Amino acid sequence: MTAQRIDGNALSQQLRADVAARTLALKAKGITPGLAVVLVGDNSASQVYVRNKVKACQDSGLHSVLEKYPDTLSEAELLARVHALNNDATIHGILVQLPLPAHIDAQKVIEAISPAKDVDGFHIASAGALMTGMPGFWPCTPYGCMKMLESIGYDLKGKHAVVIGRSNIVGKPMAMMLLQKNATVTICHSATQDLKAMTLQADVIVAAVGKRNVLTADMVKPGAVVLDVGMNRNDEGKLCGDVDFAGVAQVASYITPVPGGVGPMTITMLLVNTLEAAERMAA
Ligand code: NAP
Repeated sequence: MTAQRIDGNALSQQLRADVAARTLALKAKGITPGLAVVLVGDNSASQVYVRNKVKACQDSGLHSVLEKYPDTLSEAELLARVHALNNDATIHGILVQLPLPAHIDAQKVIEAISPAKDVDGFHIASAGALMTGMPGFWPCTPYGCMKMLESIGYDLKGKHAVVIGRSNIVGKPMAMMLLQKNATVTICHSATQDLKAMTLQADVIVAAVGKRNVLTADMVKPGAVVLDVGMNRNDEGKLCGDVDFAGVAQVASYITPVPGGVGPMTITMLLVNTLEAAERMAA
């Protein structure tokens, strides 16, 4: 079997066209969806991420503000900025780029964001909403994975999904979303004793670890759907995922590439969440 690729760039284009159309409709009512991105310090990867997020907003017609601060910014000053953005009517979504410098308590800052503007979906209220099936904002990366499954018409009901990784931003919310769609979900992590025994049972595998070749062809049931969230560098310094793409593509029915898979979907779902925040506030 040679797996079909789920193209994150192509799907993103479709979803962003929808965002642009809905943004135009809101603008006709005098509302421009606005995202504030806050960056503290000069982490080079973070600088690229925030630039891409701001550009994606502009390309889809959303308003965006990038606030950059030196890493000497105090926690109190950052909290004051978050409070100001909470009260800014032109801003519907607030994203504080992580990681924050060590002297700032990231969780405290996330909890300071109004849940109505928590477009990253990291606030404890958003996590609780996902857990209980209430309306809220879903974290962008697992939300993008769900859209990828939807794009291939995959019905999760009764399927066995194995999520590798249990972070608060990817693994755990991913598992909750799969559960909400009636999959039977197994969550694996660094203390899992026999990862291969778990993944071999899976109809769907989501790899969210941050290590190359965590998933190889011998660990995948023929016909399984494989989503690769990982972002790593190979020996040549090129971007690669957690999955041995060439090998697993021979066994799986669908697979996401890295780059061009989950990565672009993450930014797209940030746009979707920001637009939805604006739509909810306008309703
Ligand atoms: P993280 O917080 O470091 O979590 C990694 C998880 O992998 C942990 O739960 C860890 O288990 C587990 N793990 C580590 N080694 C393992 C092993 N050998 N077998 C099974 N599980 C293992 O990372 P994250 O933030 O979730 O991100 C995961 C990856 O996704 C990273 O490469 C990151 O760059 C990427 N990412 C990509 C996007 C995107 O847009 N494409 C977005 C976010 C993240 P323990 O909990 O036991 O330590």
